[in-house]
Amino acid sequence: MLIVLTHLPADGLKFEHQYEADELDLSQHEFDLPQPPLINGRFTNLGQEMRVKGSLRATLAAICDRCLETVTLPLAADFDLYYLPATAHSDKAGETELLERDLDVSYYQHDRIDVDELVLEQLELGLPARILCTEECKGLCQQCGTNLNVESCQCSAPTDPRWQALADLKS
Ligand SMILES: [Zn+2]
Ligand SMILES: [Zn+2]
Repeated sequence: MLIVLTHLPADGLKFEHQYEADELDLSQHEFDLPQPPLINGRFTNLGQEMRVKGSLRATLAAICDRCLETVTLPLAADFDLYYLPATAHSDKAGETELLERDLDVSYYQHDRIDVDELVLEQLELGLPARILCTEECKGLCQQCGTNLNVESCQCSAPTDPRWQALADLKS
């Protein structure tokens, strides 16, 4: 979804969009969207900069880092973003000021903002750094690949050298 900024009403533009299942290009992302995003918010023209404030809801599906099972992650995020025109002669002073105010700054081109990009960025930010099905996930056996959450295997656990040193002391 593209928002054309030249058509923006003076008092801003409220928007809401329920994405369809295949509407976003997820080829560059390591998650799926079993429940596509619902986004709503408002564009405000602040002269040089554009402000986009709103919220986003979706359910993501990603792969557990340890056992490779699919994990479902509900996401609800609020965002408050500022956009500057990405022109060659861009207003460095305006940019510095925004950065000094510690605001999230992005850039737009040709008087339009791609809301899909915004959504994908927010979804990416909403993903935890480490994706785990549960905190206690036992992962896969490094030798035979058995999912240790489901069953155990006959492989001997690799010995941690620190424990081995203790065992040596006791014997
Ligand atoms: Zn797991
Ligand atoms: Zn094993």
